[in-house]
Amino acid sequence: QWIYLNGEFVEKHDAKISVYDHGFLYGDGVFEGIRVYDGNVFRLKEHLDRLYDSAKSIMLVIPHTKEEMTDLVIKTLQRNKLRSAYIRLVISRGVGNLGLDPSSCAKPQIVIIAEELALFPKELYDSGLEIITVATRRNRPDVLSPKVKSLNYLNNVLVKIEASLAGVSEALMLNDQGYVAEGSADNVFIIKGKKILTPPGYIGALEGITRNAIMEIATELGYTVKEEPFTRHDVYVADEVFLTGTAAEVIAVVKVDGRVIGNGVPGKETQQLLEAFRHRVIEDGEK
Ligand code: PLP
Repeated sequence: QWIYLNGEFVEKHDAKISVYDHGFLYGDGVFEGIRVYDGNVFRLKEHLDRLYDSAKSIMLVIPHTKEEMTDLVIKTLQRNKLRSAYIRLVISRGVGNLGLDPSSCAKPQIVIIAEELALFPKELYDSGLEIITVATRRNRPDVLSPKVKSLNYLNNVLVKIEASLAGVSEALMLNDQGYVAEGSADNVFIIKGKKILTPPGYIGALEGITRNAIMEIATELGYTVKEEPFTRHDVYVADEVFLTGTAAEVIAVVKVDGRVIGNGVPGKETQQLLEAFRHRVIEDGEK
């Protein structure tokens, strides 16, 4: 496996960065997780727009144009002879001294990893997920915007820890006011009647690329899709609940904090949206 690292391709076991890198010392950097379906990088433009916006927000200048970055992503795939893959693109502040001030970091480090996709087991899609809500809160948007996909993922890691301590594989984070924000690395949707809701960005949700694709697809299918704040109660009494993300695509939730959602099996509408999403992915590739 070949890793793109600061201008060259190196073997996985040689792909190393300095302990003085501020990404390592302070989580100072940004990243993207991107999916490749049969040679087509799904919504690469949207991912790069988000990456560059995240970088701009934290005053990190990426030393490549988006066109060059597109090229590097494609080259990484070709080098690894991958047609279906998961890509991790990481830009860290770079090597500096031990102080927080990023001005000691001369050059951002750029890492592109392309791996064979580790798909979630099919059983999970058939049975749906049992999840909980956890004590870890999403950071306030006025402190660090949830739109910034930064290397500071401690809240998200803590969500995963709380989930696995409770014996479930995923959990929902609330924001500081108790509104539902998102999962550890996925967005949440609820369906009530013909209305589909997902929390707006200001509540503390990342504007997921999969989330946006699903909002688009659901609107085309005739649903009323709204970005609207909701509480745990709204989740408990929803007809259907599902999560979206680059790796998970669309996955049904059948139990939340012990409350059975709908009939306790993945709902019809969620299935329909997952199918439509998988079609869209193929259509996008044919364009
Ligand atoms: N929320 C968080 C915190 C994430 O890290 C991710 C994953 O990127 C998502 C949501 C889902 O976003 P996307 O659909 O772009 O993968």
